[in-house]
Amino acid sequence: MNNITTRRNFIKSAGLLTAAAAILNPFEIFAQSRSSLLKRSAEKKLTLSWIPFDAKLRHPFTISGFTRTTTPIVLTEITWDGFTGYGEAAMPPYLGETQASVMEFLKKLDLSKFSSPFQIQDILNYVDSVALNNTAAKAAVDIALHDLVGKIMGQPWWKIWGFNPATTPNTSFTIGLDTEEVVKIKTLEASPYKVIKVKLGVNEKTDKMMVNTIRSVTDTIICVDANQGWKDKHYALEMIHWLNERNVNMIEQPMPKLLLDETAWLSEKSPLPIIADEACQRLTDIPKLKGAYHGVNIKLMKCTGMREAREMVSLAKALHLRIMIGCMTETSCAISAAAQIAPETEWADLDGNLLISNDMFEGMKIVDGKITLNELAGIGAIKL
Ligand code: MG
Repeated sequence: MNNITTRRNFIKSAGLLTAAAAILNPFEIFAQSRSSLLKRSAEKKLTLSWIPFDAKLRHPFTISGFTRTTTPIVLTEITWDGFTGYGEAAMPPYLGETQASVMEFLKKLDLSKFSSPFQIQDILNYVDSVALNNTAAKAAVDIALHDLVGKIMGQPWWKIWGFNPATTPNTSFTIGLDTEEVVKIKTLEASPYKVIKVKLGVNEKTDKMMVNTIRSVTDTIICVDANQGWKDKHYALEMIHWLNERNVNMIEQPMPKLLLDETAWLSEKSPLPIIADEACQRLTDIPKLKGAYHGVNIKLMKCTGMREAREMVSLAKALHLRIMIGCMTETSCAISAAAQIAPETEWADLDGNLLISNDMFEGMKIVDGKITLNELAGIGAIKL
C-alpha cells in the first residue's frame, strides 16, 4: 500500500481532517516520499533506529588550544504504518553524552510494546525511566515521535499546540571569542540578523574588547551569555550597568549556577533581565529559579525534548518567568523541532544549523532575522 493510500485510509477511519485538504498537502507527500535510513514498513509496529553522524563545522572551534572541526550527533527514526519520524541527539562535549552513550541508551529501548504512537505520554515516561540523565538521547526519541505523530495527523506541531506563527522572535546569531579583526569580520557577516549573541565571562579586558569591537561595526541589539563566568556579584552588576549603556537586552547565566542567592541579589538590582541557562535543565528545575532569575533558556537537548519543553513553557508562564528557546550545534532536524515552540518565547537562539556545512535536513528558515515556521507536518523538516 503506498503512502497516499495508507494516509487516505487513516483519515477516513480517524476523521481528523478533510481528506481533500490532507491528501493535497504537497509538503507531506514530498516529505513522506523522501528516502529513509531504513526501508519503510507499513506495519503498525513502532520501530526505532539510529545512525551516528558527524556534523562538520563551517568554522573550526578552538578552546584552550584544542580545535574541533566536527560535532557528534546521532540521528534517529521511528517508523509506524508507513510513516517515518526523524529525531536527533546533539552532544556538546561538556554535557557528558557521546555518540556511544546515546546509542547504548537507545539500544535499551523497546518501543514495540506500545500499540500506538499517539501514546506520547506513556512512551516518553517509559523512555525517561530507563536511565537517569541521557537527556540528548531521550530528546532524539521525543523529536522522532513528535515528527511521526505530526505527520500522521498531517499538521505541524505549532498548529497542533495552537500557537500563533506570527509571534516568533528574531533569532540571535552568535559571534565567538576571537581577535578584534576577526570579530569585526564576523559582525559584518552577521548583518542579516537582528540580534547578535556574544559570549562573555572571560575577563574584563576581553569582555569589553568583544562588545566594543562589535559596537565599532554595528548598533544591532546584543544578547550576552556570560556562561557562569562572573564569580563576584558586585563585579557582575558593574558589568551589567556597563552593558546596559551599549544596547544589550539580556544577560544569560551571569554567575555560577549554584550561586542562587548571589544571582537573586543581582537580578533584583540588574537593569537587564537575567536568564538561567546552565541552572535550568529540566521542568523540575524551574520552581527554584523563581525569584533568582527573570527567565529561563529552554533547550531540547537539556530537557529531553518537545514534550517537556512545552511543559516548561507552561510552568514558566505560570510563575511569570520570561522564556528563551536555545539550541546546541544541531542539524535543521532538532532546530526545526525547537522552532515549533518559538511562538511562545521572547528570545530565540536557534542558529545551530547555520554553523554546520553538511546539514542533512531542510526545515525552519530565518527570514529577515525572524524565525519563520513552515506548514510541513510534524517538526517541519524534510530529510535531504
Ligand atoms: Mg548559554
